[in-house]
Amino acid sequence: MRALTVEPLKANSADVRDVPDPEPGPGELLVEGLSLGVCGTDREIAEGEYGWPPDGGDRLVLGHESLGRVRSAPADSGFAAGDLVVGVVRRPDPEPCGACARGEFDMCRNGRYTERGIKQLDGYGSQLWTVEPDYAVKLDAGLSETGVLMEPASVVAKAWEQVEKVGGRSWFAPERVLVTGAGPIGLLAALLGVQRGLDVHVLDVATDGPKPPVVRDLGAQYHSAEMNEVAARVKPDIVIEATGVPSVVFGALTGNAAYGVVCLTGVSPVGHKISVDVGTANREMVLENDVVVGSVNANLAHYAAAAEALAAADAGWLARLITRRLPLADFAQALDARPDDIKVVLDLQ
Ligand SMILES: [Zn+2]
Ligand SMILES: [Zn+2]
Repeated sequence: MRALTVEPLKANSADVRDVPDPEPGPGELLVEGLSLGVCGTDREIAEGEYGWPPDGGDRLVLGHESLGRVRSAPADSGFAAGDLVVGVVRRPDPEPCGACARGEFDMCRNGRYTERGIKQLDGYGSQLWTVEPDYAVKLDAGLSETGVLMEPASVVAKAWEQVEKVGGRSWFAPERVLVTGAGPIGLLAALLGVQRGLDVHVLDVATDGPKPPVVRDLGAQYHSAEMNEVAARVKPDIVIEATGVPSVVFGALTGNAAYGVVCLTGVSPVGHKISVDVGTANREMVLENDVVVGSVNANLAHYAAAAEALAAADAGWLARLITRRLPLADFAQALDARPDDIKVVLDLQ
């Protein structure tokens, strides 16, 4: 079979090559890969910034945003041939830590977790892959085109859960949410905000291309002005930050409403210094009981919530989030980010 592989920590080593078909272990599903979503993590691994091969090898099958169709499944697995499935990215550390032992491997405390396509486990960027039934999630049959958005949607479902848990420490009746960044994470965060009946605002630098109409057609408001100006106008009860841009992050900390909850989901590059008044941020956060919470990855409950959110979404709107779809052989183009991209997807068959 063909697989997209990379030699971790070696720039420009990504390559589509023939590798042996995977053999399902006891109890495992054998899955035909349909599509693979590509994101910044894959681009950073392909650029040699990080990534870990499986023990005993030097190449890693890339890809963590999966969608496939079950080819074979054990009778008692809860899955059957033909089911549309997504594979979970993270596996608990072998020890495991207290969080992993409770199924909260997204909250792993010791960093010894492994991740498909990122850290010590081959990913889902291949024409066939195997997965343990406990780490496979069945999707609505109507999601055969857009189910590849499940992994980013699971990240967003966790972010919303964190916001609601933090807000739930006292009376919480949020009305307005500001989402910063109109990439896949931001747009899916906006979708889940609309599904909650909130007044949703999305900020991004794009002034044309697909992002503004996609936001408007969701029933949300699109803004491309300065963060501080937009935050002052919207007065968001919730900010979901998905850019990692330092000035936008600082604007989120200082620009929310009283009892605001800011959820940070964007990973910033290090070493980009800006001058900020920490006293102002501290004063606002103390006097307004604000909370800033970081959120990454997702556990099985978040995948289940994401599957429901995608099944409830308008299929035509979801399809517009996939702005480029390329054959596997064109992986290099997929790894090359373009300004108008929302989600780029590789077709694996
Ligand atoms: Zn990703
Ligand atoms: Zn752990």
